[in-house]
Amino acid sequence: MNFNGNFNNIADSYLFAEVAKRVAAYTQAHPDKKVIKLGIGDVTLPLVPEVIKALHGAVDDMAKQDTFKGYGPYEGYDFLRESIRSYYAAVGVKLDMDEIFVSDGAKSDLGNILDIFSADNTVLVPDPVYPVYVDTNLMAGRKVLFADATEKNGFLPMPDYSVDADIIYICSPNNPTGAAYDKAQLKEWVDYANKKNAVILYDAAYECFVSDDALVRSIFQIDGAKTCAIEFCSFSKIAGFTGTRCGYTVVPKALKKDGYNPNKAWLRRQSTKFNGVPYIVQKGAAAVFTEKGMKEIKQNLSYYMHNAKVIADCMDDLGIWYTGGKNSPYIWLKCPRGMGSWEFFDYLLNNAQVVGTPGAGFGKCGEGYFRLTAFGSKENTKEAVERIKALLK
Ligand code: PLP
Repeated sequence: MNFNGNFNNIADSYLFAEVAKRVAAYTQAHPDKKVIKLGIGDVTLPLVPEVIKALHGAVDDMAKQDTFKGYGPYEGYDFLRESIRSYYAAVGVKLDMDEIFVSDGAKSDLGNILDIFSADNTVLVPDPVYPVYVDTNLMAGRKVLFADATEKNGFLPMPDYSVDADIIYICSPNNPTGAAYDKAQLKEWVDYANKKNAVILYDAAYECFVSDDALVRSIFQIDGAKTCAIEFCSFSKIAGFTGTRCGYTVVPKALKKDGYNPNKAWLRRQSTKFNGVPYIVQKGAAAVFTEKGMKEIKQNLSYYMHNAKVIADCMDDLGIWYTGGKNSPYIWLKCPRGMGSWEFFDYLLNNAQVVGTPGAGFGKCGEGYFRLTAFGSKENTKEAVERIKALLK
């Protein structure tokens, strides 16, 4: 018997643990100080009334003989997949029902999708990056290459034809950098993937924050994407489902290679290892796409985007370089005065009692940068920004 030795190749996940440790030490030493946390990417506003109503209704369904539900379809109930299909249709993307798969969140699917790929594929991920892409591939023993995201390329690396990759991860708008590719840039990636016979795993978890017409909500808005991309999305950020758990993945039927059908393979994978998302949760998720639900959701999104603007305006005032904040709830800033990521973390904590996330925790290119999030309360965001301004002006 041998365990999977690849686990020995994965760095200990210490970023948020280290952040929590330093904050705990500070608050213990300074119990009188109010610390404001703009670090973690979790939402804070509660579920909207229309979703809550749907959840309650679904609980009642489970109490009655004629509406009770047992195991559901592996790929999700038709009522939710229909709503997702209409959501895509609204941005001009036509999908068949059997291209949409409901899951318990984007993180699970981003990891699980690797079951349908061979272990000898080479993977290309941007640096800095959402750590799930790297760790899940290292666990399976794949070779991982990095595309450097830097200030010079606006934290949006472009394809390099001298690099041969089989699986390419793109997250736009990006976590942690908040940067978002425009249509022309994504078209370059799609052309590269089609040419190289590669697949793009497109993480659209933050699509709901896109307001700029030059950007897209889905990679399938780009010509040629259906033959090279799989898209992952989530109810976490759009509707505050981080604790409720629901997401979806689109595997186009046009994506095929040498007789291998990834759409069929993914259904086979899901039906073998996954027994579906609770009916109650799917009912809540479907309410997101109703007219009333979406109206309420949009109020929450603009609440967060107002916070993002408050933080971005502060950086503008201070003359600090940053990405994000416009089509994204993240502001990725260059640490002032040449400080390193952890150095700035300590400086901000000790002198302004504001907590962010050190960019170095997301990859080597993140060193010297820092992430602030718009997911805090309006009052705390305003207070944090005032403190940052007073400290750095
Ligand atoms: N993808 C990105 C880029 C994220 O930042 C997150 C969560 O923060 C996820 C996926 C996870 O989404 P979910 O809550 O649906 O698992």
